[in-house]
Amino acid sequence: MSLDTSIQLERPVALVTGASRGIGRAIAFSLAISGYRVIVNYRSNAEQADSLCSEIAAAGGEAVALQGDVAKAADVEAMNAWLTRENIYVDVLVNNAGVLRDNVFVMMSDAQWDEVIDTNLKGVFLMSRAIVRGMIEKRRGKIINVVSISGLVGTPAQANYAASKGGVIAMTRSLAKELARYGITVNCVAPGFVETDMLGEMNERQLTEMLKLVPMKRAAKPEEVANLVQFIASGACSYMTGQTLVIDGGLSV
Ligand code: NAP
Repeated sequence: MSLDTSIQLERPVALVTGASRGIGRAIAFSLAISGYRVIVNYRSNAEQADSLCSEIAAAGGEAVALQGDVAKAADVEAMNAWLTRENIYVDVLVNNAGVLRDNVFVMMSDAQWDEVIDTNLKGVFLMSRAIVRGMIEKRRGKIINVVSISGLVGTPAQANYAASKGGVIAMTRSLAKELARYGITVNCVAPGFVETDMLGEMNERQLTEMLKLVPMKRAAKPEEVANLVQFIASGACSYMTGQTLVIDGGLSV
């Protein structure tokens, strides 16, 4: 794993967690096309992460895959050590990695609770803490957390997922206030339904019923969420912090 550090001064760096598939993949591609050198984090799907890096290169962008489980402190430390060795400063951190382990509350296992909280909430803490040190040093940076409307409105059989996303929304407000003085903004995007593998994990009958409730009568494309993230990452979005922007086709209105 190596990067041509000679061009580091020219292109800002974005690190996207969980970028091998779905929304993270679309975000990584969109940021790469808009001029970021992108670090494509993934947990297990090396083939898809590498194929995204090739796609980005073919489109004239720059990307490198970086394996690491955001829920594991040792993995986050190893990723951070690699960034330090390569002298890479991350300008934009997109905490996108997330898992879904839905179950009705009384049947929810400890493992289902822990896996979701460890990845979706603790993972955001571990990654942000690792990366924010460099941002403080440089007096600039953006953290963008991909949450869900489940963290804002009640969604049955998602107590673990809702707690994790609601936790990130609260953490975002706290961090935004703490880090504003260093020129760092922290915001969330909260999608409703998005066409990814994660949607396939939901109960099909429940999903069909839920989609009927979406005023726009469809799920979002991952690219539609990526467009919003790209805006927040851009210089055009310079005075917003601590916010959660909902992108759900009107579902939660
Ligand atoms: P997805 O298609 O299931 O992809 C999940 C991605 O996260 C994969 O790249 C996966 O890596 C990675 N990942 C999972 N656990 C990880 C870990 N511990 N460390 C590092 N990477 C990890 O999911 P998605 O639908 O794109 O969801 C992306 C984000 O959007 C999540 O935070 C999710 O909660 C949120 N969201 C999704 C929807 C939706 O309807 N899809 C709606 C609202 C919010 P591997 O490929 O290596 O496994």
